[in-house]
Amino acid sequence: MKIVADLDKCQGHGLCRMSAPDVYDVTVDEGQVIVKFDGDVPEELEDAAALGVDSCPEIALSIVE
Ligand code: SF4
Repeated sequence: MKIVADLDKCQGHGLCRMSAPDVYDVTVDEGQVIVKFDGDVPEELEDAAALGVDSCPEIALSIVE
């Protein structure tokens, strides 16, 4: 699974990190999401990654493959 973040949409709420801290982080300085593993989510974290996508109120996260 590949996750891509649209940083023009990301507002840094951190809801994605709350839903799936193993997949998402939010930078303190810039207040934007970082998708760990360069977005290439390991199979065992795919469900968590999808939860994070669904949790984002800005629709900034997308599953691309
Ligand atoms: S929930 Fe969405 S808007 Fe908030 S930090 Fe995560 S990706 Fe960005």
